[in-house]
Amino acid sequence: MLRIAIQAKGRLNEDSSAMLRELGIDLDESKRKFLSQSANFPLELLYMRDDDIPAVVASGTASLGIVGFNEVVEKGYEVQVVERLGFGGCRISLAIPKAEDYDGPAWFEGKRIATSYPNILKQYLDRQLIHAKIEVITGSVEIAPAAGIADAIFDIVSSGGTLVSNGLKEVERVFESEAVLISSGRLTPDEQAVLDEMLFRLESARISRGKKYLLMNLPKASLDKALQILPAMRSPTILPLAEEGWCSLHSVVDTASLWEKVRQLKAIGAEGILVLDIDKIIL
Ligand code: ATP
Ligand code: MG
Repeated sequence: MLRIAIQAKGRLNEDSSAMLRELGIDLDESKRKFLSQSANFPLELLYMRDDDIPAVVASGTASLGIVGFNEVVEKGYEVQVVERLGFGGCRISLAIPKAEDYDGPAWFEGKRIATSYPNILKQYLDRQLIHAKIEVITGSVEIAPAAGIADAIFDIVSSGGTLVSNGLKEVERVFESEAVLISSGRLTPDEQAVLDEMLFRLESARISRGKKYLLMNLPKASLDKALQILPAMRSPTILPLAEEGWCSLHSVVDTASLWEKVRQLKAIGAEGILVLDIDKIIL
């Protein structure tokens, strides 16, 4: 049994659960408790505030965690980042009142900056050789300049809308974050086997994303041309059809080039083209 800590409520909760479900791991969400077990996979879920996840993983209370990379770096606990998960994307930026002229990071010299991320901010200021006063605030950082608590803020930005509505402008993008899978780095061989299975499933879900399964009827005379249009993973599957001179061709294509390929295939006589979603690809 492997224990994983995920956010109980908030921006990462839904995507974390969806990711586990995509791996074929059933979660008992109706009766969600602080701690719950999957019915079909040796995984135990521990629901927590995101701030606490790096600490419970570092201490080994949970062997794994899903948390924003920002929290991992800010808290500074010793944990291993096993995978970047591709959701929960955001950045932490410096923002100042929009009427201010901004001429580079030196603007911040001697200023007061409000933030919930003092450690990440301090690392940045040290790198830039800037001395500023860091005011730690845990919520509503964006109101600090208008409230006279600070001259600037260092806060999470996703679209920038909150900044604009508080009369601020983003001037430095300091830190990029997304959700990551972290590990204590001290897994037993059994726990490691469970993690390996999760990573294997994650990889096959990732490969199948952005790909479609394509099947069509094709005049046999066009087969050579079709094979040039469709470089499949090994080679396309070709099946005979009852109708003389025709075959059925199956292949996998990147979604990005799907419509271009469909146009080329129609031009060489393909008919009855079916485009199907792929659930998993296991190489
Ligand atoms: P908790 O109650 O668990 O402490 P929280 O309020 O600290 O929750 P959320 O706002 O749910 O945290 O954000 C969780 C994580 O989602 C952030 O640490 C960050 O990694 C990521 N995230 C992505 N986009 C945003 C955003 N626009 N604002 C805040 N966090 C974001
Ligand atoms: Mg939090």
